[in-house]
Amino acid sequence: MLSHKPPAVSSITLALSKGRIFEETLPLLAAAGIVPADDPERSRKLILDTNRPGVRLVIVRAADTPTYVQYGAADLGIAGKDVLCEHGGAGLYQPLDLNIACCRLCVAVKKGFDYAAAARPGGRIRVATKYIGAAKAHFAGKGMHVDLIKLYGSMELAPLVGLAEAIVDVVSSGATLRANGLEEAEEIMSISSRLIVNQAALKLKRELIQPLLDAFAGALAGERGPCSPPAGHPA
Ligand code: ADP
Ligand code: MG
Repeated sequence: MLSHKPPAVSSITLALSKGRIFEETLPLLAAAGIVPADDPERSRKLILDTNRPGVRLVIVRAADTPTYVQYGAADLGIAGKDVLCEHGGAGLYQPLDLNIACCRLCVAVKKGFDYAAAARPGGRIRVATKYIGAAKAHFAGKGMHVDLIKLYGSMELAPLVGLAEAIVDVVSSGATLRANGLEEAEEIMSISSRLIVNQAALKLKRELIQPLLDAFAGALAGERGPCSPPAGHPA
């Protein structure tokens, strides 16, 4: 008699974005014994093999990582808290804060703009951002009226050309704000990148996924503390 077993689950797929998340994930992958076969900055391939036959990487846009994992197209992924807040986290298990790609989500305005006057309850402000969800929640929490303008990048330009009075964007050193005559007015949240896992995959592929989680957790315990605020920024 044939027994009815679930299909073989012998491989796992990890979704990563190019740039800082890929770079800062390499040491964690190495701790798990995983070395990518290609460098995504050099290769145009979107699916990268690794030294481990059962482990592959897919290269996606940072904001798309939770979507690939939510639908199970990738079993795991690494995404910033900013991106996870906008996505909402449905279907995702978030077992580890990896303390990489550290920055903070901020309100920024043109130097000299009286943010304190606008930021009182009942105040009104026009804000350009790609973080519509986080911005809406933040200003609602302050009792402010906000006209949100969705942008996909280069938010710093908006206050300079009169598109908005303020922006909500991620900031690390603040150099881009300064270079464009803007200043940080308020911090909304501190950001780091987290490991995300498809909830169904975790159940079906636990033997493959758990050792990876353990290796990542071990590497974190040994190597780095939580994100520290950049120099000059009050804790
Ligand atoms: P994208 O520009 O497509 O958002 P990035 O690779 O620049 O992709 O950002 C990926 C993630 O890294 C963001 O979601 C955020 O969590 C974090 N991040 C963004 N900018 C910075 C920065 N300047 N310093 C540190 N981390 C950042
Ligand atoms: Mg970027």
